[in-house]
Amino acid sequence: MERAVILVAAVVLALGPVAQGDIILYQSKYDPPEREFESVEARFGPDIPDPGLDGVLYQADPLNGCSPLKNPVNNTNPTANRSIVYMKRDDCKFVEKVRNAQLAGYAAAIIYDNENQDLIQMSGDGTEITIPSVFVQYHTGAELLSAGEKTPVTLTPDMFPEWPQYLTTMAASAACGVLLFAMFVVYRRQRHHHQQSSSRMTSRQAMKLETRTATAEEEEDQCCICLENYQASETLTELPCRHFFHKKCITPWLMERDRVCPICKRDPVTTERTPLCRPDAVEEGQVDVAADDASINASESDVAVLLNEEAGEAATNSTA
Ligand SMILES: [Zn+2]
Ligand SMILES: [Zn+2]
Repeated sequence: MERAVILVAAVVLALGPVAQGDIILYQSKYDPPEREFESVEARFGPDIPDPGLDGVLYQADPLNGCSPLKNPVNNTNPTANRSIVYMKRDDCKFVEKVRNAQLAGYAAAIIYDNENQDLIQMSGDGTEITIPSVFVQYHTGAELLSAGEKTPVTLTPDMFPEWPQYLTTMAASAACGVLLFAMFVVYRRQRHHHQQSSSRMTSRQAMKLETRTATAEEEEDQCCICLENYQASETLTELPCRHFFHKKCITPWLMERDRVCPICKRDPVTTERTPLCRPDAVEEGQVDVAADDASINASESDVAVLLNEEAGEAATNSTA
């Protein structure tokens, strides 16, 4: 049950959107937002406060932010615009860049990708990091570079976009449907496997059974599956229990119906060859052949009766 809950949660999360924030650029502080770009907050450092962090843009010098910045700012005046620095990915760790921004007095850092690819979430050991930082895509970096120094900017915290109610409901039902279907498939597979291995014989096992041709004397005998007399030179399968049948009758019986001998119910795979009917044993007088034959005939007719009953039942069922 616990696993099922985790699976549902995983499916819902996989179907759901990813948490993202925005960086918003303005022409001037009092203009409406001009351009918005997706961003993802770093795993390290503090979160961007709600409803966002306002400031002005600075380009890091050096651009990769891998060494102490040559353009630090004085961020001690609380009424002044906060300074937010942007840097290019690569050459050193994210944490290193953000630490250099922090040491140079910036209130937040934006790191843009050096390749055109999906957004990632920056991570690293940020125990000393006290400023928030976000990651943006390559094309956003190009926009920042062209925006110019001191462009007003707002960083917004990462949030899951709000889904309309019906979408959430639909996603939840889809997740439940997927889960139920998966459970059904697993159940059926297990059951199938169990049946295959326990009650029926595999074709490989059936192939290994001993076959021979019927002798002229055996024309008196009947195959207890099809109830027809054997014809000399027909192919017979003789099971280790020494019961024999038409090969064409016993093979489907073992593979599709029941893996045991229809007469004595012994499993041909696990049963060792019985020595009872060995011709030499008979000569040595160890076995009462007549008694053995009698018991075989009795059970053979039992099977025939059983088969006929089942056939009757099947006929009744199929019309119902
Ligand atoms: Zn037969
Ligand atoms: Zn048998």
